[in-house]
Amino acid sequence: MTHYFISDLHLQGNRPAMSEGFFGLLDRLKGAETLYILGDFFEVWIGDDYSDSLVERIQTSLKALADQGVKIFFMHGNRDFLMGDVFANACGADMLAEGTVITVGDQQALLMHGDSLCTRDVAYMNMRQLFRNPEWQADLLSKSIEERLAIGQQVRSESKAGQQMKADDIMDVTPEEVDKVMDDAKVNLLIHGHTHRPATHDWEVNGQERQRIVLGDWGDDHGWLIRWDESSSPVLEKFGF
Ligand code: MN
Repeated sequence: MTHYFISDLHLQGNRPAMSEGFFGLLDRLKGAETLYILGDFFEVWIGDDYSDSLVERIQTSLKALADQGVKIFFMHGNRDFLMGDVFANACGADMLAEGTVITVGDQQALLMHGDSLCTRDVAYMNMRQLFRNPEWQADLLSKSIEERLAIGQQVRSESKAGQQMKADDIMDVTPEEVDKVMDDAKVNLLIHGHTHRPATHDWEVNGQERQRIVLGDWGDDHGWLIRWDESSSPVLEKFGF
């Protein structure tokens, strides 16, 4: 029973090598128990009513994996917050709420995208509130696909949110916020992405060992995943393609 976690692929039509790396990974996941995709799967997602050849191939490939018995979950990132049940269901997957706690073997883990942990970036946190506002989202989704594509382009080229891609521009998590969300969820293990700072952090709080595993962002020749076998501890892995 092996569970896999990935995030921050930032898939897009003009990065075919990365997409191929993703499709290659799916071969390896045959026989897995679960695949958790923890946000920023797409570089930008303008709504489930948009599709193109890459989107169609992703749906077909993930659906095939799901049909083989692999459970697939999507969590929103700060780039694909408009992803919904229509897309997820076409992939044979389900949406997973931010901050979900899962149990693997006798361990529990809190799953997040990670952007909400970067509280020192006040400007971004304000934008995040807007992005996650249902009314604002509904208004955006009511625009034509052409308009949304244009807005997506504009956001990426001009705004602070657009810069939230390069590690240098993404502030790291606030340690106090990490401990707070772990306290609230009553867990000692946190898995997230977003910061593009892949690492395994160990520390102690009141004599309790805590661990935070951060997934990495994908490139044209490599990806990152966490592999968690029920009989052992989760392991962060960089792999080439
Ligand atoms: Mn992100």
